Amino acid sequence: MLGSGVAGLSAAVRAASAEPGLRVGVLTKADLEQSATRWAQGGVAAVLGGDEDSTDLHLADTLAAGAGLCDADAVRVLVQEGPTRVNELIALGAVFDRDHEGRLLKAREGGHSMPRIVHAGGAATGAEIERALVEAVRANVSVVLEGWFALDLVVEDGRCRGVTACHSDGNRRTLRATHTLVATGGAGQVFAVTTNPTQATGDGVAMALRAGVPVADVEFMQFHPTALHHPAMPRPLLSEALRGHGALLRDAKGERFVDELQPRDVVSRAMTARMLDQDVDHLWLDATGLERFDERFPTIAASVREIGLDPSRDWLPIAPAAHYVSGGIVTDLDGASALPGLWACGEVACTGVHGANRLASNSLLEGMVFAPRVVEAILRGVDRPTPTGAMRAVHGDGGRRIERPTLPPCDGNADAVDARDRLQRAMTAGAGVLRSAESLDATMQVVENVAASCADPEVHNLATVAAALLVAAEVRQESRGAHTRTDFPDTSDDFLLRLVVQ
Ligand SMILES: Cc1cc2nc3c(=O)[nH]c(=O)nc-3n(C[C@H](O)[C@H](O)[C@H](O)COP(=O)(O)OP(=O)(O)OC[C@H]3O[C@@H](n4cnc5c(N)ncnc54)[C@H](O)[C@@H]3O)c2cc1C
Repeated sequence: MLGSGVAGLSAAVRAASAEPGLRVGVLTKADLEQSATRWAQGGVAAVLGGDEDSTDLHLADTLAAGAGLCDADAVRVLVQEGPTRVNELIALGAVFDRDHEGRLLKAREGGHSMPRIVHAGGAATGAEIERALVEAVRANVSVVLEGWFALDLVVEDGRCRGVTACHSDGNRRTLRATHTLVATGGAGQVFAVTTNPTQATGDGVAMALRAGVPVADVEFMQFHPTALHHPAMPRPLLSEALRGHGALLRDAKGERFVDELQPRDVVSRAMTARMLDQDVDHLWLDATGLERFDERFPTIAASVREIGLDPSRDWLPIAPAAHYVSGGIVTDLDGASALPGLWACGEVACTGVHGANRLASNSLLEGMVFAPRVVEAILRGVDRPTPTGAMRAVHGDGGRRIERPTLPPCDGNADAVDARDRLQRAMTAGAGVLRSAESLDATMQVVENVAASCADPEVHNLATVAAALLVAAEVRQESRGAHTRTDFPDTSDDFLLRLVVQ
């Protein structure tokens, strides 16, 4: 397993307890506890027993957010298997918030037609999930390699046979495995303004692209509308749950301008347009009407109080930030990639669940649902992908293939911090919430320049993912979901398909 977020750890826990036993190892580039999962706030969307809600409604909300590009079978797997996985996590020891009678508390978030988001510690859901899974992995998995950076896939005779990796002390190794599961998370660090932690550099997608493994939907980078506007990077997130509980969005003149419960892409676009109109770099979230803010949202209260704001009195400065990449390594419904021996799950994967835009709180759920499916498929002896889920697009069903961009060879030794900064700023300016052919082209020139001038492997991964995103965003001459082209503002039926970079 590569990665120690909800996806990698869920797979490791399932594999370690499987009969007959599998020999399992977890490799991760920082400490086991470090991941985007740890930062997840709002919670997990799942229809749990006794709800008025139904899985059909959860399915319908997910399909609506995905703007025509979700794979309905993948979404059905997500919503039907999700509740069992949440209950298993509770059985493992994760403590979710409950009312006085012991019933799980449920919040409503943007794009959800019912309150169905279960959460922990107010808005510290990811930390609690990570705690429970890390504890289980430390107790049950014998090989845990921390501080090891996976560099590339080992491909021999048309099969993935493990990875090459290097340690922070300079040590390099080839780690061989019969099955390799990539669960390396997202790529928010491709942008200058992001909610993602420093590890989210798209390494898994970059490794896949170098090995010729198909990747899709990478143009759909979701921007979270309400990141705290503050020099801290990653930007502290003001969870959607605040808007679910009645917090209001206000422009520079203090006026409301959008329905706060619209999906993220709609809100981010409305905010970006208003910021351009009013020539400001942030707007406001007014949570002054929320009662018991500190008690209900202790993590958020701590971040805003740290910068001297009192949420009961002050409006909170906000701006959209890169948050979640809906695409990734194309998989079938069991998490199999197109390369035998290589599997993917969690944010790094494109299962087809999110389409053009992820519904809030469906991503922790996706990791929890698809990770055990990988293990079960391996135990059943499955060794090849089937044309199901997003993998259908690779077989020409609802997909269009586009060439993987080739980056120029590296002949420089530019400082990695500067190079990363140049790339991130160019991506935010030219390939952020609003894009055009002109801005994408200018951004590609910066990305090529960075790739040619800096040999650092993480920077190179950022450039590889950025180039794939730019090419797909250029080809997709329409606006859909999280992808908005100012020169093609309408949705077009010609693009009711997945762009597969290969
Ligand atoms: C601030 C914030 C709030 C969020 N809130 C929610 C929410 O409320 N609900 C929800 O559903 N989702 C939320 N999300 C999204 C969600 O947290 C992520 O999509 C999800 O946790 C991804 O899990 P993962 O296991 O795929 O990846 P991650 O949790 O990112 O884990 C990836 C792991 O891979 C490791 N890794 C990466 N590259 C390498 C490499 N080259 N070699 C070795 N190891 C590597 C990393 O160190 C890390 O351990 C939020 C995200 C953020 C950033």
